Amino acid sequence: MSEPASFLERLVGVPSESGREDAAADLVEAELRALGLAPKRVGRSVHATLGSGGGLLLLNSHLDTVPAGEGWTRNPLGERTGGRLYGRGANDAKGCVAAMLAGAVRAYARTAPGGRVCLAFGCEEETSNRGITELMAELPAPDAAVVGEPTGLAPAVAQKGLLLLEVTAKGRSAHAAWGGGVNAVHAAAKDILALAAVSFDREHPVLGKPSLQVTQVQGGERHNVIPDRCRLVVDIRTTPDYAPEEIVALVERAVGGEVSIRSRRLQSVDTPVGHPIVRAAVAAGGGEPFGSPTASDWAFLKGIPAVKAGPGDSRRSHTPDEYLELSELEGGVAFYERLIRAYHEGTP
Ligand SMILES: [Zn+2]
Repeated sequence: MSEPASFLERLVGVPSESGREDAAADLVEAELRALGLAPKRVGRSVHATLGSGGGLLLLNSHLDTVPAGEGWTRNPLGERTGGRLYGRGANDAKGCVAAMLAGAVRAYARTAPGGRVCLAFGCEEETSNRGITELMAELPAPDAAVVGEPTGLAPAVAQKGLLLLEVTAKGRSAHAAWGGGVNAVHAAAKDILALAAVSFDREHPVLGKPSLQVTQVQGGERHNVIPDRCRLVVDIRTTPDYAPEEIVALVERAVGGEVSIRSRRLQSVDTPVGHPIVRAAVAAGGGEPFGSPTASDWAFLKGIPAVKAGPGDSRRSHTPDEYLELSELEGGVAFYERLIRAYHEGTP
């Protein structure tokens, strides 16, 4: 098997923006095959299972990246220097893919743990979550899962969801000079202040309270026309303590405008800290369980107990000169290997 670092270097060298993961999926498939596994493709996603009998642990991460974008001083398709690998996806999340692959192979290379591991690497995590949805429809139901995202190996035991709302204030047009009419922008201004004052009282042990931000305002066509419509976009990061309907009702009570749901696809998820998958991640040396504000494919695991953990730092994701320390990669390989053993062999 190729060293994790050189495999990661090759994987980063293959561009794989969301929707164009074919070549990256080919590379992962070939690597798994070369290791004696029997990988299968589901569209632009790849999966393979190790071991036999016992429980089934899913190790999932994603093959796609956001576009490289501007501002790079290093090669976005990979530059290895000073103990780091720079490149788009090195940190988010190809480092996790490489570490999960190598960690699982090492875990089964000596005495096989008494259970199975399914490696499943999806497409379109950054956009539509198509890969994980297609994988979950195809794979046997796992007992627990690890979602590979850069967390510095610390296990996230809960993840916020995203509820996107639109509030539309309506008025009546008139000539600005003559007055009259009803100014929808003025009405929306009151709604913005009301939204800023919305508070949540239920506090999740690791996620805290939901957060609410008005992130877009759109109203008015011309300087001399009293606008009859103003639209606000409200970005709400949810916790499992609130059903989306409850939050919608709260917003409806606060504003005068009309509330509509733009997206509620990304629900908040959490796993009890006493669950074996959390205990295994802690025993593997991941560190303290925490609550993560960022979304991932975890939201699409259909309630399977999971942690989100992997090498790297989420603050480096989607930035120019994204990198992964090669020592972080090695740490990730050892972490996943220990986690697989701890999960299947049980932790005290
Ligand atoms: Zn990611």
